Amino acid sequence: MYPAQFEYHTPGTIREALELLGKLKDDAKLLAGGHSLLPAMKLRLATPKHLVDLAKVPGLTGIKEEGGVLVIGAMTTHYAVESSAVVKAKCPALAAAAALIGDPMVRNKGTIGGSLAHADPAADYPAVIIACGAELVAEGPKGKRTIKADDFFKGLLTTALGADEILTEVRIPVSAPKTGAAYLKFPHPASRFAVVGVAAVVTVDGGKIGKAGVGITGAGTKAVRARGVEAGLAGKSADAAAIQAAAEKAPEGVDVQADLQGSEEYKRHLLKVFARRAVEAAVAAAK
Ligand SMILES: Cc1cc2nc3c(=O)[nH]c(=O)nc-3n(C[C@H](O)[C@H](O)[C@H](O)COP(=O)(O)OP(=O)(O)OC[C@H]3O[C@@H](n4cnc5c(N)ncnc54)[C@H](O)[C@@H]3O)c2cc1C
Repeated sequence: MYPAQFEYHTPGTIREALELLGKLKDDAKLLAGGHSLLPAMKLRLATPKHLVDLAKVPGLTGIKEEGGVLVIGAMTTHYAVESSAVVKAKCPALAAAAALIGDPMVRNKGTIGGSLAHADPAADYPAVIIACGAELVAEGPKGKRTIKADDFFKGLLTTALGADEILTEVRIPVSAPKTGAAYLKFPHPASRFAVVGVAAVVTVDGGKIGKAGVGITGAGTKAVRARGVEAGLAGKSADAAAIQAAAEKAPEGVDVQADLQGSEEYKRHLLKVFARRAVEAAVAAAK
């Protein structure tokens, strides 16, 4: 199916892109990798009259470490995240999540900013950026602002971004010493989207778990922090029994949805299993 007719714009700067958004308002949509927006347009689920392509806007791609923070431009592709030596070393769960997205074509075109702004409930990155305590930088007509990952996902395909704002970068604190991280998912067999995905970032010292960050995606309408699992891990021995007990809390705070992939009961079970496996993998990586 073909999309409805639209006008295509290629701004050369952030300012030009913001001016277009300000002028065209609800008739405009930003275009990044196009791997969520274009399928939606082809199905006529989205019918923007104007597409504002970010491809020619300089400064939106790249990965660097800056004062203990990993800074990733919004237009950086999933493949660049997956294959980056600095991401693998400083935020291995993010590299793992990127490598599990879709297929090579999706990973070579799709971008981290597009994925986060789209807020698909089954997307992989959201669990990781919540677990890592990341921040997202948005630029709008009034300048820049920073949004905590915990406050970014508002609901199904809905974020804290305003219609007149552009997500410009993701800022992830690099892992502290003695910290291990993992992202594991139960993939949909066709699309590879997460039926359930869990990211865990765990600090282990002298056999005890210190700080734990756990993010969940897939099972509900938006990605959330698994506060019950985190509280169940903090200060406990890093052993199988403690991890199992904490993982039992994974469904708490998730608005688990039944769908073609499974019942609520099945998704709750998957959440517990994948929380246990992700925490076990993170603990093993911390040692
Ligand atoms: C076959 C297939 C399989 C997939 N499998 C997975 C998977 O397993 N896991 C997964 O997580 N994802 C999966 N995806 C989705 C993929 O990761 C997309 O790349 C991603 O969701 C959207 O990124 P994009 O760069 O393509 O954005 P686009 O499709 O261009 O844009 C998506 C939305 O975000 C907005 N937007 C884009 N950039 C910005 C910005 N900088 N600031 C503000 N708004 C912006 C757009 O206006 C649009 O509303 C799959 C997609 C396909 C087609």
